[in-house]
Amino acid sequence: MQTTETIISKETLKKLLDIEKLRYCFECGICTASCPMAELLGKDYNPRWLLEKVFLNPESVLNSDALWLCAWCYRCYRHCPQALRIPEIFLFIRKTAAEHGFLAPLDKALPKIVENIPLPLATTLVCFHPERAGLDREKILERIEQIRFENLKKRKRTKTAGIFQRKVAVIGSGPAGLTVAHQLAQKKCKVTIFEALPEAGGMLRKCIPEYRLPKQVLAKEIDFIRDLKVEIRTGVTVGKDLSFEDLRKEGYKAIFIGVGAHESQKLKVEGTDLEGVIHALDFLWKINSGEKTEMGKNIAIIGGGNVAIDAARTALQNGAKEVTIFYRRSREEMPANPWEVKEAEDEGVKIEFLVAPKRFLGKNGKVSSIEFVRMQLGESDESGRRKPIPIEGSEFSKEADMVILAIGETPNLTFLPKEIELNEDGTVWIDPITMETSLKGVFAGGDAATGPATVIEAIKAGKRAAESIGNYLESLGG
Ligand SMILES: Cc1cc2nc3c(=O)[nH]c(=O)nc-3n(C[C@H](O)[C@H](O)[C@H](O)COP(=O)(O)OP(=O)(O)OC[C@H]3O[C@@H](n4cnc5c(N)ncnc54)[C@H](O)[C@@H]3O)c2cc1C
Repeated sequence: MQTTETIISKETLKKLLDIEKLRYCFECGICTASCPMAELLGKDYNPRWLLEKVFLNPESVLNSDALWLCAWCYRCYRHCPQALRIPEIFLFIRKTAAEHGFLAPLDKALPKIVENIPLPLATTLVCFHPERAGLDREKILERIEQIRFENLKKRKRTKTAGIFQRKVAVIGSGPAGLTVAHQLAQKKCKVTIFEALPEAGGMLRKCIPEYRLPKQVLAKEIDFIRDLKVEIRTGVTVGKDLSFEDLRKEGYKAIFIGVGAHESQKLKVEGTDLEGVIHALDFLWKINSGEKTEMGKNIAIIGGGNVAIDAARTALQNGAKEVTIFYRRSREEMPANPWEVKEAEDEGVKIEFLVAPKRFLGKNGKVSSIEFVRMQLGESDESGRRKPIPIEGSEFSKEADMVILAIGETPNLTFLPKEIELNEDGTVWIDPITMETSLKGVFAGGDAATGPATVIEAIKAGKRAAESIGNYLESLGG
């Protein structure tokens, strides 16, 4: 029988220390303060403590369920003054644990995920990634369903007390809106979700590709929330089919805005109006909704984030011959998760770094080539990454019969009443504690309030908002 001591050998530890300069952790705790899982799980998940254990006594961590609770949002890394890639350090230990059969901690982690996260199947696939440690994801999904079923039986027996009979409107059926509905329905609120698209799920349904999150897995999550007596009205755009005023008149006492960030940022270069130039969210939605999409042979993707990677892999898997990502910074600055980049490259996606498009050129109104300019990196900008600067006279052309723009998204909040204040970056302003907007009784969260982020952060926002909405409804009395 192997012991943890024989597993974390000096050799293994050296590999781990090579991943990151662990010695230089400042113990400032910013990782924990910025971690959505730490907020969702309280004492059960504290990346700062876990990191310390990894550093001081890695053997002890192999048996820790906390190891399996990192949701890969990279908030810790983005806020860490030492830029330690904590999720990758934890993954290294997870893999070591899995390889040596230390799976009891995972078994202890799954009930915590089910208990605290309203979309446990979807988040397991897009956030927790058990398969990254070499485990069978189907078996883990089965186990999660079993735990959820057992919890439900217990809950039916104990019968939760209903404290409200109030109507709450949720705008948007992404993870933030679904979480608010899930939480408030259990307090016996009458929750209606209004969703502009024909199907519920937000970005999970609209853009995350099938190979990462199968539709039937998402459908199970939505059905579970519907079973809590949440009404989901799809095909209803608030601001077009219904106004805020209508919602008030229909008796909704509180409103949650969870409309995400679905407006693609515009690239200010010539030729974006040519046929064959498309925004990544539109492209992914066409594929996800089964719309017949003529795939280019030679596809150029502009951008370097996860959306660019999803668009590139989806294009390749749907028949494109050659797909190249063009990114204006270097590999180190790429915002996409490194493992997604690797998987894309393994599938055949090419990446060209330090290039930016100057204009798109067309024949008969259809895109045919792109003029690029090479870039070099200068000083760090406000994002903390080194700023790309064009190199004069370095222009070159590449052929492309389809261009997919993946350069960022912002929320579309033009439908909101003018009393609701917006931030400078176009997101909705909220009180950071209560998540109430500047209009009383109206709350917001998820990408609409933060800009594009992650599923786990939207869920955290939904939970916090539901708590505040509950307090607000109680304050109304009666
Ligand atoms: C291609 C892609 C891949 C991603 N991959 C990952 C990943 O692997 N892991 C991860 O954690 N995150 C990922 N994300 C990010 C993640 O999907 C979002 O952060 C998350 O979905 C935000 O949740 P939300 O509830 O705030 O908004 P959304 O999920 O965007 O949902 C908002 C919903 O509101 C609806 N809506 C908008 N306006 C109105 C209106 N006026 N009336 C009615 N309904 C309206 C929209 O149709 C949408 O359904 C990805 C995003 C994209 C685009």
